[in-house]
Amino acid sequence: MDLNDIYTEVILEHSRNSRNKKELSNPTFVEPGNNPSCGDEITLQLKGNEDKIEDASYTGTGCAISQASTSIMIDTIKNHSYKEALDMANDFIGMIKNEVTDQEEFDKLGDAIIFENIKNLPARVKCAVLPWYTLKNVIEKNNKDK
Ligand SMILES: [Zn+2]
Repeated sequence: MDLNDIYTEVILEHSRNSRNKKELSNPTFVEPGNNPSCGDEITLQLKGNEDKIEDASYTGTGCAISQASTSIMIDTIKNHSYKEALDMANDFIGMIKNEVTDQEEFDKLGDAIIFENIKNLPARVKCAVLPWYTLKNVIEKNNKDK
């Protein structure tokens, strides 16, 4: 099964020329993530105040799916609280694992729902979830999940 053409277009656009691929000045959190099975590496940067992610960016290399998923995740989580971002991460991971099927939960994910069909491409699942696991990791280990 292949991805829908329009989704492929969005993914290519984000992976080739993402405005979110840059360094932030004075990021609050910097978290590396990698997916050895494909060779994807990202470094997620978050800048936030006490309760909100004000800005985010990434640097990294890897396949189009991993890079686009990271870029689209950044668009999705910006201006949300850490807790909301964590909920989105759990929804995204649940969607890919086919454990969350409630369409209302997907609506919160914005453009990230275009990765829903990745669950039918097992070799690419780890590429798509990489940024979301990285996000979950950094939020939980810094106790921002309250
Ligand atoms: Zn990959």
